[in-house]
Amino acid sequence: MTKSGTKATERFADGWKRFPAMSLRNRMAFYYTVTTAFLLAVVFTAILLIVDRIVYMHFDEELRHEVAETLEEANVKGQAFTGFDNFRCIDGTQEEDDEDKLRLKKKEIDSEFIQIVDSSGQMVRKSTNLSRNLLTFNPVYSGVRYFNSVVAGEQVRQVQVPLVNRQGIADAYLIIAIPMKSAMIVLLDLQNIMLVSFPAVILILFILTRAIAGRSIRPIEEVIATAETMTQANLDQRIPLPRNNDELYRLSATINALLDRLQDAFQREKQFTADASHELKTPLAIVKGTLDVLVRKPRETAHYEERIRYCLDELNRMARLIDQLLMLARYENDRMNPNIMKIDIGSPFQSVMSRIEHLASEKQISISKEHFTSGAVAADPAMLEMMIENILSNAIKYSPAGSAIEVATSRRSGLLVCSITDHGVGIPAEKLQNVFDRFYRVDESRSSSTGGFGLGLSIVKKLADLQHIGVSVSSREKEGTTFDLTFPPA
Ligand code: ADP
Repeated sequence: MTKSGTKATERFADGWKRFPAMSLRNRMAFYYTVTTAFLLAVVFTAILLIVDRIVYMHFDEELRHEVAETLEEANVKGQAFTGFDNFRCIDGTQEEDDEDKLRLKKKEIDSEFIQIVDSSGQMVRKSTNLSRNLLTFNPVYSGVRYFNSVVAGEQVRQVQVPLVNRQGIADAYLIIAIPMKSAMIVLLDLQNIMLVSFPAVILILFILTRAIAGRSIRPIEEVIATAETMTQANLDQRIPLPRNNDELYRLSATINALLDRLQDAFQREKQFTADASHELKTPLAIVKGTLDVLVRKPRETAHYEERIRYCLDELNRMARLIDQLLMLARYENDRMNPNIMKIDIGSPFQSVMSRIEHLASEKQISISKEHFTSGAVAADPAMLEMMIENILSNAIKYSPAGSAIEVATSRRSGLLVCSITDHGVGIPAEKLQNVFDRFYRVDESRSSSTGGFGLGLSIVKKLADLQHIGVSVSSREKEGTTFDLTFPPA
């Protein structure tokens, strides 16, 4: 991340600290509760509406029944409404007697009120339980109509039925009402229960969900706690894996794997720095020691020359090492983009041969190309040359004088393979897998005598990876070594 990017992130994080966000467990509980509250409100409202509807359906059904029964018992002929004998008369002048009062009280709850009105709405007859009260007549309703009304301060459900004569004209209206008090009490109770239980259920739900959410995100807390205590010094710490193989398990396992890789890389870097310092210290100490001895007393010119040459050799070694270290650092940082192109495998070999010919002839080593045929490969010419030079110079370095080195090409699974085989000291089987490691030397005494730092093959491997070239080694001790380069299709 860029510096300004990091600063912006820090500012953002600071902002959050000042206005702390709701914790994850509270947020989970909150969203869950809000959703459930909404659903619960919908369900409660639906229940209330349905119950309300059912209650009214029952009342209307009862009223229908009452109307049928009343009309069956009564005999309605023109304006002479017979059969309503137990109904109070229109004049209704007589005083409400005690018996009437009693009857009204008794019937108030569980009985119906009946009233006949003429076409103008004037009461003709009414049931005695109505006492001095009248049922509401609504002249606007021409057909059968059910509606709520009030009688003596009590809510009732009413039906108004037109009594139609032969000419199809409504002579009168039959009005029947039944008290709704008991049903209304039940409805109100139900509504109150729901109103009280709603917040209680929501509160309990929030507390429970918060507790459950807290339990399920506990592994995240552990991840945070482990990450917070982690420093370079205790990179070996790992996040305890949760019991269930779920997303949190995978998150913890992934972070642990990342920590493994980080620890590995960190370890390698540490090792590299230690090795590099060690390698640089040795020639420096040699040069310093030699010069210290030289200045102690005057010497012969020849001695000076010999010692200075010795120092120069050491300084050259140091310069080589620094070159290699810089090269490795460049490749490791991936700052080097290979310039891959289609080239003939013969040309890098030719340039390398011309550069290292003198090394081979110094040891009378012959380089045979008997089984080498040219072919096109996809590679970065400069990088490929460096790889070949490192492998070939090793082959010369670790081969006895007068031996032979063969360079050959072949095809394996359709891919071009280039092999460089020497008949030198070889590499023990158990050490083969390490030869591409940085600063790895099979045998310290063997390498120090040949001036190697154990970096050549690690550079070869890095360059091969950059160009997608496969590199492998096979060897037999005291018999020789073969390096194979497998090229991707050109
Ligand atoms: P160095 O600069 O020490 O040669 P390299 O990375 O090139 O470092 O090689 C690593 C080690 O592998 C060497 O120390 C050497 O012992 C071994 N090695 C490399 N090439 C050969 C070879 N052709 N024959 C025998 N041993 C080899």
